[in-house]
Amino acid sequence: MPRAMTQSETNTIDISSARAKRPAAPPSKRPPSFTELYQQLGQQLQTTLEADRLLGIFFERAATLLPLAALDYRHPDTDLQLQIGESAPHSVAYRLRHQGEDLGELRFEYRRPLDDFQLSQLEALLGALFYPLRNTLLYRRALLTATRDPLTAVGNRLAMNQMLTREVELARRHGHALSVIMLDLDHFKALNDRHGHPAGDEALRQVAALLKMRLRNADMLFRFGGEEFLVLLSNTGPEAAMVVGERLRSAVEGLPFQVEGQSVPLSISLGCATYLAPENLDELLGRADQALYLAKRSGRNRLSLAV
Ligand code: GH3
Ligand code: MG
Ligand code: MG
Repeated sequence: MPRAMTQSETNTIDISSARAKRPAAPPSKRPPSFTELYQQLGQQLQTTLEADRLLGIFFERAATLLPLAALDYRHPDTDLQLQIGESAPHSVAYRLRHQGEDLGELRFEYRRPLDDFQLSQLEALLGALFYPLRNTLLYRRALLTATRDPLTAVGNRLAMNQMLTREVELARRHGHALSVIMLDLDHFKALNDRHGHPAGDEALRQVAALLKMRLRNADMLFRFGGEEFLVLLSNTGPEAAMVVGERLRSAVEGLPFQVEGQSVPLSISLGCATYLAPENLDELLGRADQALYLAKRSGRNRLSLAV
């Protein structure tokens, strides 16, 4: 005979199996009413903290009630930009705010204008999105804080280790090309000594912004340590990596960095290494570091390729 639970016992429910065992609802042909949809949305939007999934669910469900063609969402604060569906000529945009906090801009596109009733339904549905979206953004901000260098806003060492581990695994298992460039500002200690630490910080910020601007979207930039950065180039062999490295070197050399109106020259040295199976991550980084050391020893403001 089953024993009755007492209040102090912990009752564990496995959500996925509980759902699987629940008798399936008979398939319904008719679209849900607004009230049904609102209730279903409320539950479904609680199942994820990923922004693309969250908005995907919202769009898919809202489109069962309203003739929506596309959704476009932007939240520059957390580097988020999403497009779902296919562009259409008519649109309505909402700037979402909560107690002074910016929750981004959401735009819906549709082929024929929505009437006032449809717009009021869309706005009422947004009510179900509000708190889940806010939680998603909080989660995203926490992730960014943990993986972004606060001074330069590029990925930190934790982010670098995560990405590199994944990329090395892909290169090892599937033979994908992978190159890394380790780079270090030249005579940076002298800049700090001469112009002060805040000027040094500003130089790091400007160099990082410039490097990011000169890289393609798929390339990744990380702050490796004090004045050292690492560039991760997926699907890139040694020749292309050297071209990228040279582009970065020449960009930093041409940076018009100024301290109190006075021009201060900056330069970087770079060490480039391409993954050689079956080496591990430390071996790859070790070779890039050796190449960087060689570039420093041969006079700085230059690029060297690892052997
Ligand atoms: P080299 O050309 O051989 O790289 O010479 P260097 O002077 O750049 O190298 P060194 O390793 O002797 O000095 C690095 C300097 O970078 C020392 C440290 O004060 C400075 N540094 C590291 N992190 C930061 C930072 O976050 N802000 C500032 N302003 N300086 C930093
Ligand atoms: Mg240095
Ligand atoms: Mg250094």
